[in-house]
Amino acid sequence: MSNAAIPKAFVVGHPIAHSRSPLIHGHWLERYGIAGAYERIDVAPVDFAAFLVNFAGNGFVGGNVTLPHKEAAFRGVRVATARARRLSAVNTLWIENGLLHGDNTDVLGFVASLDAALGIGWENDLRRAVVLGAGGAARAIVAGLLDRGVDSVAIVNRTPEKAREIVAFDPTRLTAHGLDALTALLAGARLLVNTTSLGMTGQPPLQVDLAPMPEGAAVADIVYAPLETALLKQARERGLAAIDGLGMLLHQAVPGFERWFGIRPEVTPELRAAIVADLEKKP
Ligand code: NAP
Repeated sequence: MSNAAIPKAFVVGHPIAHSRSPLIHGHWLERYGIAGAYERIDVAPVDFAAFLVNFAGNGFVGGNVTLPHKEAAFRGVRVATARARRLSAVNTLWIENGLLHGDNTDVLGFVASLDAALGIGWENDLRRAVVLGAGGAARAIVAGLLDRGVDSVAIVNRTPEKAREIVAFDPTRLTAHGLDALTALLAGARLLVNTTSLGMTGQPPLQVDLAPMPEGAAVADIVYAPLETALLKQARERGLAAIDGLGMLLHQAVPGFERWFGIRPEVTPELRAAIVADLEKKP
C-alpha cells in the first residue's frame, strides 16, 4: 500500500497533548496489523469549523473530538445519530456517502465499562443512581443509565440549573439537586457516579463521604488520572464496588476504530495495562 492510501484518523481538541486516544488506537492498529495512522491535532475554537470542512481533503477518514469542540462538532455535521442528537454533542466523526456524520460514543463507553466491571445485568440491582456533575460527560452518563432502565437518577451539581436542564431528558425518572442534598441522596442510592473534574490531577479534591451508601452499592469515577481517585479508594475501603474511568475511555474508542479501520477492536487486559503504564509515567 502506498503511503497516500493509508487510512488516517485523528483526535482533535484544545489542548490535546494529554490525550491517550493515540495510544489506544495505535495499540489496535499494531495488534490487528492495519497499515493506518491516528494523529493528535490541536485546533483552537476559532479554527474548528474550517477544520471540519477540510479534514477529508487532508487525507483523514474521520476522528475523535474532545474538549472544547464536542458541541461545535454536533453543529457542524450533516448527519447526527439519535444518541448525538439527544446530547447535542459529537465525539466521533466519519464520512459516509460524501456526508460528514457524527455519533456520541461516551454513552456506550460508560455502560460497557459497567458491564465489564460488574457483569451484564447490573441494572437489575443498581436501580437508584446519583450522578455528581451536570456537564457534557454527565449528560452522556445519565442517557446511558436511562437507556439501561434504571428507576431513578438524582443529578447533583454545584450549579443546580445545569442539572435541571438534564432533567428534561425524562422528568419522570430524573431529579435535580444542589450539593447540599448529596448526603441524604446517597443513603438511598445503589450507584454513585462522579462526572465532575474534581479529584483529577491538578484539580481540587472531591470531598464526598460514602458512609451513608448502603451495602452492595457501587461507585464509579470517570476521572482516570489518577486511576485510583480518593473517591474510589474510599469506596474500596468500605467494601463497595469501585469502577475507574479508564474503562469508559477504552470502550468509547471502539465504534470509531471500527468505522475508520474496518475491524471491531477488543478492549483487552494488555491494552488496559499499556494505558495504565502511560498514566503512571505522565498522570
Ligand atoms: P464539563 O462539561 O466542564 O463539566 C464539569 C463538571 O464538573 C460540572 O458539573 C461542574 O459543575 C463540575 N465542577 C467543576 N469544578 C467544580 C468545583 N470546583 N466544584 C464543584 N463542581 C465542579 O466537563 P465534562 O466534559 O463533563 O468532563 C468532566 C470530567 O470527566 C473531566 O475530568 C473529564 O476528563 C472526564 N471525562 C472522562 C471520560 C472518560 O472516558 N473516562 C469521558 C469524558 C469526560 P458546574 O456546572 O457547577 O460548573
